[in-house]
Amino acid sequence: MKYLLIIAIVLIVFWLWRNNRQAERNEAAGARSRAPSSRESEVMEMVACDFCHVHLPRSDALIGPKGIYCSDAHRREAKG
Ligand SMILES: [Zn+2]
Repeated sequence: MKYLLIIAIVLIVFWLWRNNRQAERNEAAGARSRAPSSRESEVMEMVACDFCHVHLPRSDALIGPKGIYCSDAHRREAKG
């Protein structure tokens, strides 16, 4: 009877371990499919506004004659 209990526990542990491995595989597959978006954010270059020094993506920045600005207001302020 004692051995039966031990066998049952071993089977339960083995079953849990298998389920855990299956979950890990699913997570790895999910991470692979999410990879392109995370790579995109790494590539996105950040620049600082020359007026208020706020950091923003280069694609959102406004290029002025004297530097890079976060908004048209700051580009005009920097000029004056
Ligand atoms: Zn600014």
